[in-house]
Amino acid sequence: MDSETIVAVATPPGLGAVGVLRLSGPHAVKIADRVFRPLHGSVPLRETKSHRVRHGLAVFPGTGRVGDEVLVFVARGPRSYTGEDVVEFSCHGGPAPVGAVLDALVQAGARPARPGEFTLRAFLNGRMDLSQAEAVSDIVRARSGEALAAAVAGLQGKLGERIRASAAELVDLLAHLEAALDFDDQEVPPVQPGEVGAATARVERQLRELVSGARAGRLYREGLRVVLAGRPNVGKSSLLNVLTGRDRAIVTEVPGTTRDPVEDSLVVDGVPVCLVDTAGLRETADRIEAEGVRRAEAAVEAASVAVLVVDGSAPLTSEDFGAARRMPVPAGVVAVNKADLPQVVEACDVEALVPGARLVRVSALRGSGLAGFWREVMAAAGLGGEGGSGLEGRQDALVTSARHEEALRRAIRELEGARVEAGRGGGEELVAARVRAALRALGEITGESVDEEVLAAIFSSFCLGK
Ligand code: GDP
Repeated sequence: MDSETIVAVATPPGLGAVGVLRLSGPHAVKIADRVFRPLHGSVPLRETKSHRVRHGLAVFPGTGRVGDEVLVFVARGPRSYTGEDVVEFSCHGGPAPVGAVLDALVQAGARPARPGEFTLRAFLNGRMDLSQAEAVSDIVRARSGEALAAAVAGLQGKLGERIRASAAELVDLLAHLEAALDFDDQEVPPVQPGEVGAATARVERQLRELVSGARAGRLYREGLRVVLAGRPNVGKSSLLNVLTGRDRAIVTEVPGTTRDPVEDSLVVDGVPVCLVDTAGLRETADRIEAEGVRRAEAAVEAASVAVLVVDGSAPLTSEDFGAARRMPVPAGVVAVNKADLPQVVEACDVEALVPGARLVRVSALRGSGLAGFWREVMAAAGLGGEGGSGLEGRQDALVTSARHEEALRRAIRELEGARVEAGRGGGEELVAARVRAALRALGEITGESVDEEVLAAIFSSFCLGK
C-alpha cells in the first residue's frame, strides 16, 4: 500500500451545486481532521465510524481561516473505492471554495494526485482488475447509451470473469503438462496431443467470440468518423444538414463554396458519429478553394468511412471520376443524391466510378433514403447485418479497447501454436511454453501480468480525481 495520502478535486471545474474533493491514503483521516471543524459536537473524524457523513467547516490548519462549510464522508479501507482510507469533502461548487479546501488539505499534508491515481490504487490494492479499472474511464467518457452499457458491464467485471474462466482452463492444462514434465512416464502418463487440441480449441473458441465483438465495441467507445466527399454541387452540404437535422453547412448553387471541412456529431444505433462535410474534391485555380481541397483530402484520410456523393440526376462527369481518384482512401459507400429527380446514374455507372463500393440512393432535399445511408455506412465500417449494429444482447462482455483486442489475438495465436506443436509431437516443454505465453497475454487484460509502463500509459489518460 502506498504511504502517501493523495488529494484531488473530483468534480469538474466551474460553477456547480457541489464540489467534491477526495483524499486517499493511510493518513487520509488524520489529514482531514487537521482541516475539519465539526459544527455539531466535538467528535473528531478519527472517532467517526466508517461510511458516515459529518457536517462542519473546512479550515486552514495554520491560521484557522474558514474555507467553506462542508459535508465530510469517511470510508475506511479496505471497504472503499481505493481499498485505502478515503475521505470525501463536499463543499460549495465554485472555484474559490473548492480551491480553498484543496489548499487547506495540501497544507495539512496531502499530495495532489496524478490523473487516474485513485483508480490505479484501487487496482493495485486488488479492489478491481485492470479491465474494470479501464471501464471506469470508459463510463466517464461514454458518448451513447450503448457505450455506457458496455462500460458498466466492464466495471462489473464481466470481461474479467470471462477471461479468468478461460485462463483457468489453461492453468489446468498447464498443470497437467508440467506434471508430465516433472515426473517420469511411470507415474504420470504423457499428455496426449488430443487433450492439448481439445483444451486449446475450447479456449480459443471462447476468445474468438470476444474478439468478434471487438470491432463493434471499439466503435461504441471511439465512434465513427464519416466523411462526405465529392465534386462541388452534388449536395454534400445538404446531405450533412439533413442527416444531422441541423443547419451547419452552407448550401448554395455556386460550386466551391464550402471551404473548411464542417463537422457535426450525432449518435446512430448507439455509435457516436462525427460527420464531416468537405470542400469539393476537384482541380482548382482558386488558391483558397485549393486549400479547402487539400483539407478535404486530409479529412478523407482520417475517415473511418469515406462516402463519395454524386448527383444521380445528371450523367457522371470527369469531375466525379477526378474526385473518386483524388480520395486518399477508396470510398466505402457511394451516395447517389437527388433521388427526387429523374435518375440517369445507374448501378453500373457507380461500379465503374468506385469498384466494389456500396450504393445507396438518397434525396437530401426530401430527406429520403437516410436509414439506408446509415445501414450502408455501418456495413462499410464492418458493423452488423440487417438494421441494427449486430450487437444486441452482447453487452455482457464487450471488448472495447484496442489493447484488449490485441492481447486476445496474441493469446489465440499462442494457442494455435501450442496445438501445432503438440500435433507434431513437440513435447510438453514446447507446448507448455506456448500455453504460458497465452496465459500471460490474458493476464495483461486483467492486469495480472502487466508492466509499469503499460499501467502508466493507461492511467495517464484518466481524468484528474478519478
Ligand atoms: P455541395 O457543394 O456538394 O455541398 O452541394 P450543396 O449541398 O451546396 O447543394 C448543391 C445544390 O444542389 C443546391 O442548390 C441544393 O439545393 C441542391 N440539392 C442538394 N441535394 C438535393 C436533392 O436531394 N435534390 C435536389 N433536387 N436538389 C438537391
